[in-house]
Amino acid sequence: MTFERTRADDGAAAADHTHPLLAWSSDQFSFPLAESHPFPLPKYALVRERLLAERVLEPHWITRSEPAPEDWLLAGHDAAYVARSLRGAWSDAEIRRLGLPWSPELVTRARAALWGTVQASRAALAHGVAGNLAGGTHHAFPDRGEAYCLFNDFAVAVALLRRDGLARRPFVLDLDVHQGNGTAACFAGDATAFTFSMHARHNYPLRKEHSTLDVELEDGAGDDDVLAALDRHVRTALDAHAPDLVFYQAGVDALASDRLGRLRMTHAGLAERDRRVFAWLESRDLPVCLTLGGGYGRPLEDTVEAHANVWRAARIARSRRPPLLAASARDSAASPALEDCTPSRRAH
Ligand SMILES: [Zn+2]
Repeated sequence: MTFERTRADDGAAAADHTHPLLAWSSDQFSFPLAESHPFPLPKYALVRERLLAERVLEPHWITRSEPAPEDWLLAGHDAAYVARSLRGAWSDAEIRRLGLPWSPELVTRARAALWGTVQASRAALAHGVAGNLAGGTHHAFPDRGEAYCLFNDFAVAVALLRRDGLARRPFVLDLDVHQGNGTAACFAGDATAFTFSMHARHNYPLRKEHSTLDVELEDGAGDDDVLAALDRHVRTALDAHAPDLVFYQAGVDALASDRLGRLRMTHAGLAERDRRVFAWLESRDLPVCLTLGGGYGRPLEDTVEAHANVWRAARIARSRRPPLLAASARDSAASPALEDCTPSRRAH
């Protein structure tokens, strides 16, 4: 397969072929949940549909995720926790901490979300920018789930990339309003990984873990406060660590209308956050794997719009990266480690 341009390929069609923003979706898997439950189950499909409707994403760029195999779960989690998760043997305390009732469908959905981040991380190395329309499950610990997060997609993706020799110095940029406590625990003591968490000091989790760098924001912080903190810390951290791959947990629960945030950001402020982040990553030629993260706005439309904004920024960022040339496409196809990135399973 080549991407050589012809006259008919000019314009949007050429951009389509040479700068695909590959994405993975897992909303085809649902799970039983009470209608009154605060987890925003519908948002994942709504975000995907919005991005397709606006042609931020093209249908053939999106691949349906499959449930991650058990050995992937074991790459990032304790065997006993994986076994309890698969056979539905969580204690009442574990279910309370997770905030979701166990069901086989829930576990299948979580495994698919994990699949998406693993595949997107590999695609990011080949394309510069790629993402998962789910994931960012930063509250999952090696031995337990927490706050809607069953498995830590960053920990598993990094373990698999390292196994395959594809990345050694990951950087997790977590701008969700809640601390990435599970991610911090997963990478504790690992100096070759940098965990950056900027979050609301007084928000969940009340007992914080130690990320490589924690930047804490006060209640009610607005666009100027958040962007100033971002300016102060992100570039310094990137340059200090010199990563070979960045995972961006681009949660949008810092939005003022979010029920679980405590900040006062606007859509424009979040969009500026993402514009800066992608520009800093581009200027350092760093591949970035985007994940969805938290967003619990009321109305839900607010959150869908905020997530869509992140992907609009990602699309622009992808268009600024080098095109996918025929040679690199052939290299990717020939690489066993990247073969799963080919969007062979067309979405929705
Ligand atoms: Zn959150």
